[in-house]
Amino acid sequence: MATLPELIAEAGVVGAGGAGFPTHVKATSKVDYFLVNGAECEPLIHKDYELMLHHAEEIVKGSLLMKNQVGAATGLICIKSKNKAAIDAISAYLPGTGLAIFELGDFYPSGDEYEIVHSATGRLMPPGGIPLNVGCVVNNVESVLNVYRSSINKPVTEKFVCVTGAVKSPKSFWVPIGTTFGELIDFCGGVTVEKYGIYVGGVMMGKLTFDRTEVVTKTTGGLIILPEDHKLIQRKNQPEKNWHKIGKSACDQCSYCTEYCPRYLLGYDVQPHKVMRSLGFTGQDNSMWNLYADLCCSCGLCTLYACPEDLFPKEACDQSKRENKAAGIKMQQKKPVEVHPFKEGRRVPLKQLVKRLGLTEFESHTPFTSEKPVPKWVKIMLRQHVGDAALSSVKEGTSVKTGDKLAEPATGKMGSIIHASISGLVREVNPAYVIIEASGK
Ligand code: SF4
Ligand code: SF4
Repeated sequence: MATLPELIAEAGVVGAGGAGFPTHVKATSKVDYFLVNGAECEPLIHKDYELMLHHAEEIVKGSLLMKNQVGAATGLICIKSKNKAAIDAISAYLPGTGLAIFELGDFYPSGDEYEIVHSATGRLMPPGGIPLNVGCVVNNVESVLNVYRSSINKPVTEKFVCVTGAVKSPKSFWVPIGTTFGELIDFCGGVTVEKYGIYVGGVMMGKLTFDRTEVVTKTTGGLIILPEDHKLIQRKNQPEKNWHKIGKSACDQCSYCTEYCPRYLLGYDVQPHKVMRSLGFTGQDNSMWNLYADLCCSCGLCTLYACPEDLFPKEACDQSKRENKAAGIKMQQKKPVEVHPFKEGRRVPLKQLVKRLGLTEFESHTPFTSEKPVPKWVKIMLRQHVGDAALSSVKEGTSVKTGDKLAEPATGKMGSIIHASISGLVREVNPAYVIIEASGK
């Protein structure tokens, strides 16, 4: 009989709330704490809340399977106190499981792994470390739901998403992996503005696209549609060299970006105001300032909340991290990790952040619907996860059914198995994706 990690691997479960780390790898750990991340702190995105309301039983079953698998004495499902209905829905299935709810405040970014591990366990990860280093495994709520489904041999073929912002009917729903963003927007009644941009995964940490033909992957969370003239789109949609050119001349080193940085406040040596100095240097001087970006989690607070000059310290950190990686340089933090005495007072309430971002008019429920878009074709990416792209095992012209295996990692490589998300005919296969045309289309 297959073990749980084998079933998880076979079902192609990856972290649904982040970069897509293969869940079967985490499932082989042995830890003290198993934490389920239901924090969901990106402005306007409420899909995990809806998932907890409508799929509580599967989430609890998956959480229990993982808690037992990793041998954790404590299993906590972390949900914001404000989401009382989700807490009640999950709590109904907790008796007898040994799992408990851990309530979080409504701050940004309370779902960051460093933050959630510290909030729930009091443990601080070593600089650059992972939860495992302090005896923890953290999984997103959708990932544990997929763990449960893997235990009944149901592979990951759908993604739970929400579409919100400037659309007629914001919603949360399941969608076959590989469906285009355009179809998701149409499923929500279309847009309410003429020209728009699409934030994928959130305005703080997600990416901006204008391409309706991009497709849903195993890590797509929420789509936020904003008018093209919204200040967030205006700021983000400019050449990267502009961000750094403005920063080089206008940064007055006030250091607010550092004072509000959640990683700095937790005790890590992230100092974006020093990273801004790197914009004016090259060579060795540049490398010295770059180091202060190494432990940044790209939460975006410095750029979108803290900087009074509307500069781009987060983007400067992103550039510095790339340069550090290319040069093989890592921050070796010498000072002990100690929480800053002002951390609590400097936390950023989500409501305040939404207001600062000019998003209040777009705040809306994204109610769950069991209806789903029915795409005529899907484009299934072969790299939807941390690790190498999966290698396709189907040929053009082959008929496939939903759940059939399409691709798997090369022997010995980290990655994830990919399955057909609809039944139909394989129309195109290449190293990047597989296109399936729906039966009867
Ligand atoms: S907050 Fe803005 S102006 Fe102040 S140091 Fe940071 S980047 Fe420079
Ligand atoms: S994006 Fe800015 S605020 Fe966030 S962790 Fe990085 S430096 Fe700190």
